[in-house]
Parts: sequence; C-alpha cells; structure tokens
Amino acid sequence: MAVESEDLLATPLQFLKGVGPRRAADLARAGLATLEDLLYRFPLRYEDRRRLQPIAAIQPGRPALVAGRILGAQLRTTRRPGFKVFEVVVGDDSGAIRASWLNQSFLRDVFAKGQHVMLYGPAELRGTAGMQLTNPQYEILDDEEGETIHTGRIVPVYEKAGGVTSKMQRKIVHDALERLPHDLEDPLPSRLLEARRWPTRRAALLAAHFPPSDAAIDELNRFATAAQQRLIFEEAYAFQSGLLARRRFASLDCKPATIVVDDRIRASARAVLPFKLTPGQRQALKEIVEDLQRPQPMNRLLQGDVGAGKTIVALLSALVAMENGVQVAFMAPTEILSEQHYLNLSRLLQASRFRVTLLTGTATESARRAQLAEIASGAVHLVVGTHALVQGDVVFHRLGLVIIDEQHRFGVMQRATLRAKGLWPDVLVMTATPIPRTLALTLYGDLDVSVIRDLPPGRLPVKTIAKPESRRDEIYGFVKQQIEAGRQAYVVFPLVEESDKVDLKAATEMADHFAQDVFPSLRIGLLHGRLKSEGKDRVMRDFASGELDILVSTTVVEVGVDVPNAGVIVVEHAERFGLLQLHQLRGRVGRGAHQSYCCLVYQAPISDDARGRLKAMTDTTDGFEIAERDLQLRGPGDFFGTRQAGVPTFRLIDLVRDGELLAEAQREAAASIARTPPSSTALAGLMARWAARFRLIEVA
Ligand code: ADP
Ligand code: MG
Repeated sequence: MAVESEDLLATPLQFLKGVGPRRAADLARAGLATLEDLLYRFPLRYEDRRRLQPIAAIQPGRPALVAGRILGAQLRTTRRPGFKVFEVVVGDDSGAIRASWLNQSFLRDVFAKGQHVMLYGPAELRGTAGMQLTNPQYEILDDEEGETIHTGRIVPVYEKAGGVTSKMQRKIVHDALERLPHDLEDPLPSRLLEARRWPTRRAALLAAHFPPSDAAIDELNRFATAAQQRLIFEEAYAFQSGLLARRRFASLDCKPATIVVDDRIRASARAVLPFKLTPGQRQALKEIVEDLQRPQPMNRLLQGDVGAGKTIVALLSALVAMENGVQVAFMAPTEILSEQHYLNLSRLLQASRFRVTLLTGTATESARRAQLAEIASGAVHLVVGTHALVQGDVVFHRLGLVIIDEQHRFGVMQRATLRAKGLWPDVLVMTATPIPRTLALTLYGDLDVSVIRDLPPGRLPVKTIAKPESRRDEIYGFVKQQIEAGRQAYVVFPLVEESDKVDLKAATEMADHFAQDVFPSLRIGLLHGRLKSEGKDRVMRDFASGELDILVSTTVVEVGVDVPNAGVIVVEHAERFGLLQLHQLRGRVGRGAHQSYCCLVYQAPISDDARGRLKAMTDTTDGFEIAERDLQLRGPGDFFGTRQAGVPTFRLIDLVRDGELLAEAQREAAASIARTPPSSTALAGLMARWAARFRLIEVA
C-alpha cells in the first residue's frame, strides 16, 4: 500500500493529463519533475474569486466575477495592423457586458453562442464603447454541474514555468489531485495529526491547492491554514528525521584514541594560558573537553562573535588532544589567517614540548617534503594550514582533532573528506558568523553547538557611523586625529566587479592618493589578494607591529585578522557589502581597551536594502541581531552568499517564516526516534533517501 502511494507520487509529470513532453520540459526546468514535486509546491498566492456579481452591479476599475450565457461572439481586426480582438457578450438576469481578449483568436473555437460561462477579470470603462471585462479568466460551465477551477472560488495562482501558465498548471494540478487515492499513505504519525487537529496528507494537499469555499483568504496567503502548516511540518519532519539519522549514524564511528584529562594535563593547559578565560570561554571549553573524552567523534560548532576569543579555546582543546598523543590539524580559510594562527599558536606553545608547523602552498618542494615526513612520523604535533591540509597529500601519523576556523559552511564537507580517508577525528568548527536560529536548526542540526556570548573584559562596543561620500573629508580628519592619538586604521575596498584587477586598481590608487595627498605624513600599507604570500605577510606584520599607520586593503582583511591597536575601520562603498561582511569587517576593530570606530562611507543614492543594512549596522553591534536582520533582508537562499553545497533544498519551508514549525518538527522527530530506535541498516536507508530528497550530495 505504502509502496503504491510513493510510486504514484514519483510519476513523471509527462504522463499526467494535459502535460506531454513539451510542457514536461518546461516544468522540469522550473524544478518540477514528478507528481510529488508538483503537489508539494504551494501556489505563489491565492485569489478570491468567490463572489458572483450581477452584471448590472459591476463597477469600473475593479475585478468582477460574473456568470451568464454567451449572447454573441466575434473576432474583429483593430486599427493597428496585425492586432485582433475577440469579443463576446455575456448576459445574466440583470444585464449584459462585453468581454474582450487581445490577440487570442483561438478563443473563437472555445466559445459558442448559448454557452453558460463564468468570467473573472478587471472591468474597464472604454469611452463610448462602454464597460468591458478585459482579458478575463474564463471557464465554460458544463451543463452537468461540476466544480469550477479558475473562477467562482478561491483560486491558486502559480508561478509561470516556461510556457506553462498559471492557468494551465491549475488544471494540471487539479487533475493530478483527482488521481490521489483516498488511502494515500501519510508520513506523519496519526497521533500527531490528532493532537494538532491537522488534516490527512491527501486532504491537506487538496485544501492547499483548491481551498474550501469557507477558507480565510488572508490566512491562506500567510500560509497559515491547518492544511498548509501540516504540509510544511511534514517537510520539516522528514528533514529533521534524516538529520537525526545522520547524527546517530555518525555516533557509531569510533575515533583513533580515547582522550583523558587529568591534573597533569590541566596544569599544562594553565601553563600556556596568557589570561583568565571569560565565563563563556570556560563553558565552551568544558563542553568541548567533555566531547573529546567520549568514544564517538566530536562534531561541534563553536560560535562566538568576532573578538570573543575562540582561538584560545581551540588551542586549549588542541593541547588536551596533543597531551593524549594525537595530532591536531588547525585550518583557516586563507594563507594570511593561517600564518597569523601559526605565529600566535607557536608563541603560546613556545614553552611546551609540542612542535607546530605551518604548511603553505609556497614552500619549496624539498622543504615541503621534509615537512610532510615530519607530519607522517608524528614528530610534529600541530599542523596549521589552509583547507588543502586535509584535502591534499598530507598523511598524518595519528590525526585526532581537526579545528576549522571561520569556515563553518565547509565543515560538513570536510568531515566527508576525512571519512573517505578512513579518519574519524574529533572535529571543531569555529565561526564568527552568528547563525540565526532557524538556519542553525537546519544547516547545523546535527552539530552540537557551543556559544561564547561574552567578550573579553574591558572591551567597548564599536561606535558606527554611516556617511555619504560627500562627507569623506570629515572622516579623513577623524582618522588622522585617531592616528595622532596612537591608533591605527584600516581602509577597506569592496570587490568592485567580479574581477580583482579592477578591485586592485581601486585599492592601489587609493593607497597612492592617501600617501601623496591626504596623509602625506603617515605610513601607509597596501594589502590585496594578488600579493605573494611573503608580501602579505610582511605588510600584515608591519601593521601588527605598529610600523604602518593605515592599512589600505581589499576584503582579504575580512576574516580573523587581529591587531588590537587598530581603532578605526573605514569601509568604502559600504552600500556594496553584505550585512554579515560589514559586521565581520567591523570586528577588525574594538579588540583593544580603547574606544573604536567603524565609518561606513556610501555612494548616494542607495537602494532600500542597502539602507537597511547600514541602519542595522548603526543600530546594533550584536552579531545575532545582525544575522536575524540579514536573514530578513536577504532571505535564506542568499544568507551564505551564493548557494552552497550542504544547504538543503526545501519545497515548502520558508526559513524566515517557518522557524517555529522547524523547531517543533525537530522535537517530534527526536521523540519518535527515541521511542523506536532504528537499526543501523534502517538508518543508512533513511539517510540515503533523505540526502536525495533534500539534494545533499556530499553527505557521507
Ligand atoms: P575570535 O573569536 O574573533 O577568533 P580571537 O581569538 O582572535 O577572537 O581573540 C581576540 C582577541 O582577544 C585576541 O587578541 C585575544 O588574545 C584576546 N582574548 C581572548 N580571550 C581573552 C580573555 N579571556 N581575556 C583577555 N583577552 C582575551
Ligand atoms: Mg578568529
């Protein structure tokens, strides 16, 4: 029975009444391949075409719904050559009205005198020609009383798919719904439906596409009717069940070594600690170390706003691992960042017996070979580098912990890479991108999460201002003043076009302009993605040691760079940056004890969205609030920039709208799995179906 229902839903659309190969191809391009795809896609909106009007009562300027008989029909040419108008006159007990369609000559074969029809469309006054319905939707009412689809009811409006109009889709969906068997299998447990008074799957699908006549139109358009909610929940429940399955499955793995923590190790950690941890750091460390001591690999996300101090937490975790005789890989998204981590970590570990190495793409062949040999033999304990580190030819002696900095979105994929190599280390992913709750529930639903909410003591929130370009002089004056007070400044340029050439030019010219005209007495450095690794390194080092006053940079400075004396960041063309990116950039300052400033310079006029972003920046420094606003401004599809592998494809769920249902689905799915724990074979099957359905290709 269940199999039959699923088979039916898997029917390719081509085999549905009224589809055929041409339309099927159009629908496929819109992502609709099967009956299930079609039925599990809500209309864009619903239109209220319920109220029939007597023809005599029609008002111009409003849509009207009328029913009557065709009194006459004609196709006529217009004064404009090549244009034809088809007209009918429809009459009811109260009067008659003309309906007119431009260039739809085929209607000649649709309408015939004496037919009973329903029309829905805007009523217009056409000068001396009087009132008419212009291009109305129509429906021929058969004499046997049938249900109308396009008129006389609440009507679903679909997004056009190639040549397949909303009206055609309405008909196709309607026919498809009629094929659903009354005992269509329902993936939701019946106790859940009863508790929430939700309709069955079949009833919900019917009502979501062709709502009953007493449905509330505004509720429908908010997608808040019981039928719609149930279908959204159904998708969320399927998603969360798969996520839980994956998590259970991962917990069947065993890692290479059991980690223990004793007094000796605690003392060793204290010895490297340069300051007192904040309560948030301490709590996060505790959660991580508890994971490390479990036999199953850790899969944890460490969230903390920029400057919250994630690095030291990672280092202490690494120390615990190394004390237990396993190696640690520490990865950052860019070479600049990995170099910075390397310098930082080797400084902190100087007094310890652990050896750190930096693996870059620029080492000579022989140097690299020597490095790889040391890693393979276990002589090196902590390896810092970019993501090439676990993806390339590096062979570890005993890899026990992988730390991934500022690259949350690749976490899942990297785990898959590791698994493919037969490695099951603990994985700690760190991010300063505050992740809105709903996204955390989906993208990271199978990660444990630690959050550092506090900042190291003595930090002052960064003051942020937004100014148009015309007031740039004031900003330069302010920068100068800050530098005279002992601070340093960043000036950042966006990627102007999809080419770093232009990007580079803007930054280079600005650096020259600063050096020659604006700040002739100051020391200016330039950092961009085209510099060789040593070049970047030198500039960063000079800036960090205070030998440069101003660092003019492209966005390479965005992530993780840490220079506590930097007190001002000027962002040029701030209107072009995404909100999270602006927040990241702002995080470059405010890292020391002094008051810091973020100046957003924009080129007027700016779009409403850009204005919204700048306003969010000046309103708050709270990363979580920024993230929520970003999600609202951009929608979830764009939250992480371009679409990412690992971001599920939802059909009905809207991450901005449906946060509550997602959270409930997670609870229910967890309760259900706890009640009847599936076998590992069942888990594997569930995961495979889940990955296919939500197009999560890289799941291992
Ligand atoms: P992020 O979380 O953005 O990676 P970092 O780890 O780079 O932050 O830390 C930011 C700065 O704060 C660094 O200079 C670091 O040394 C300092 N820091 C971190 N934790 C503390 C603390 N508990 N007390 C004082 N300073 C700290
Ligand atoms: Mg960091």
